[in-house]
Amino acid sequence: MPIRPLPPELINQIAAGEVIERPASVVKELVENSIDAGARRIEVDIEQGGVRLIRVRDDGGGIPRDELPLAVASHATSKIGSFDDLERVSSMGFRGEALASVSSVARFSLTSRQAGDDSAWRIEVDGGRMQDVRPAQHPQGTTIEVRDLFYNVPARRKFLRAERTEFAHIDDLLKSLALAREGVDIRLSHNGKPVRLLKPARDENAALARVAEVLGPEFPGQALRVEHEAAGMRLSGWVGLPTASRSQADQQYFYVNGRLVRDRIVAHAVRQAYADVLFHGRHPVFVLFLELDPAGVDVNVHPAKNEVRFREQRLIHDFLFRTLHEALAQTRAGAALPSAE
Ligand code: ADP
Ligand code: MG
Repeated sequence: MPIRPLPPELINQIAAGEVIERPASVVKELVENSIDAGARRIEVDIEQGGVRLIRVRDDGGGIPRDELPLAVASHATSKIGSFDDLERVSSMGFRGEALASVSSVARFSLTSRQAGDDSAWRIEVDGGRMQDVRPAQHPQGTTIEVRDLFYNVPARRKFLRAERTEFAHIDDLLKSLALAREGVDIRLSHNGKPVRLLKPARDENAALARVAEVLGPEFPGQALRVEHEAAGMRLSGWVGLPTASRSQADQQYFYVNGRLVRDRIVAHAVRQAYADVLFHGRHPVFVLFLELDPAGVDVNVHPAKNEVRFREQRLIHDFLFRTLHEALAQTRAGAALPSAE
């Protein structure tokens, strides 16, 4: 075959392969967009584990009519405009790829209305083919519907798991987003039944109640509050006591500037801080928020954006280790006593 440029639809489908692995990946992209749009309330309706329908409705800023085709175009974003912006990006999105990807592998519609506009507008995209923008009914904000995910990508569809499993992934994802956006009302339903209703938290008690909603009702009684600032960084959240530890590392939430990340440096610092209070093979439970100057952390590492690179790794490591080690000090005093068993 001679060398030829790829058709745009195919380019988007290839890009979709990187980030849209399953229904939960779609939910992540859509809800992150709602968060970036300043939504105070986000409703997620799922049918058949997300394969039949994913609907995300928000009350955020909306999209102007003439930008609707751009919203679903690839490499088009309202969030950054220069390399400098990329270096200090604070929004969840910045790649301008998600809607183009999603709409290339599903039947997609976006309806939106900005404050002050007298009408809402809708754009539909079917497997990458864009239709004309039409007037629609919608309050201020945006609703995106994604139907028949992967209907045109049989290979991906084959890898989808049972409805229950896919929904569990969606629920987990939403919980992890909800932990970091305590002020946002988040609702989730599956096949018409309400499943989760996370009310906005206005103070620390309410925030802890929301954490309990995610980590279980026992967690608040088995956790210590962490809050520490130094060298332009701030670490806050809750660390589970050894009694809350688990045999799996499945309840560990670490956010960098509001983004859930998996990071080697972080994992190491946490493990060290817990080293002398936890038995071998046990894993701590925690919800921690690290905030630092966005310029100090590169989020453009992987398309899924769940990895970061810290510019000053050593500094971050030591800050985390010291703060957590200090917080766990009381526990350590107790743990040093000979066991009664
Ligand atoms: P990115 O989030 O990286 O900018 P997306 O493909 O996810 O790329 O979205 C493209 C653009 O569409 C965004 O930059 C934003 O301007 C607009 N957009 C998407 N979803 C929403 C929403 N729920 N509310 C307002 N604007 C949105
Ligand atoms: Mg986005």
